[in-house]
Amino acid sequence: MGRVIAVANQKGGVGKTTSAINLASSFAAAEVNTLLVDCDPQSNATSGLGLTKDPDRINTYHLLMGAASPDEALQTTSLEQLWIIPSHKNLIGANLELVEADRREFRLRDALAPLRERFRFIVLDCPPALDLLTLNALVAADAVLIPMQAEYFALEGISELLDTVERIRAGLNPELAIEGVVLTMFDERTNLAQQVTDELKRYFGEKLCATTIPRNIRLAEAPSHGKPALLYDPRSKGAESYIRLAKEIIERQPSAFSHQLMEEMSVDVDGADLQPAAGAEAKVEEIPAATEMDKTA
Ligand code: ATP
Ligand code: MG
Repeated sequence: MGRVIAVANQKGGVGKTTSAINLASSFAAAEVNTLLVDCDPQSNATSGLGLTKDPDRINTYHLLMGAASPDEALQTTSLEQLWIIPSHKNLIGANLELVEADRREFRLRDALAPLRERFRFIVLDCPPALDLLTLNALVAADAVLIPMQAEYFALEGISELLDTVERIRAGLNPELAIEGVVLTMFDERTNLAQQVTDELKRYFGEKLCATTIPRNIRLAEAPSHGKPALLYDPRSKGAESYIRLAKEIIERQPSAFSHQLMEEMSVDVDGADLQPAAGAEAKVEEIPAATEMDKTA
């Protein structure tokens, strides 16, 4: 069974889509089949992976409305082991149209169920709202990854999200875990960043990811080229930090899951470089060798 990770924070512009695209790409580059589902009517993950706007293409809206099968919605990307279910701005209608529907919070979970055997990771990019779309993602997910910026009132900003996670656990999805909290657009040189990090560490403990994502222009440029950062500029700090985050998340998985993962991953141990031109074959040499991962399992 694959692991479904929702990337969520109701605050806008905190790096959800950048994290969803680059995390999913890093999993795929580690040679595990990965699916990115764009659950946001803004469709930034869709365009960020180079798909044009196309109202006729089957997208997440059709999936939620039961008008298409997940197989019909899958699109390939420039990474061989990454697929996407795209979005379109008409997805905004689902928020209203689903209000009266049966199992309205379970639509995405039900739709993705047949795909869970085929993908090791399914990453859900959520909109900046605690609406029915985000609710569907949190009900479909095994875990939520929360990107946030190191700001002064950081904790207050996400209390509403954490309350929502609690409510979902109490009713709709008791298994929902917090995969981690990841600091984005991080500038470690500032005192404020350090203070906020200390506070978040006290609050979240191990859930605060050790990997932070620096502010990096390559991460902001890559979507306009329709590419994840590891294809646009694999040596950039941005691409490298998401590869590290993927590795950290893989290492956090229960041991049975990571053992299975290691069998599937062909780990590139000879230190060969990531080749931007060899897009589809790009590998993540930083994923640890099996023996190294064993200790953490
Ligand atoms: P929304 O809430 O609108 O969906 P979001 O949370 O998905 O936004 P992003 O779209 O990922 O946030 O990022 C917001 C903006 O910041 C984008 O222009 C993106 O390119 C830029 N950005 C994100 N992360 C970084 C980073 N680490 N370094 C530089 N720019 C970044
Ligand atoms: Mg977004």
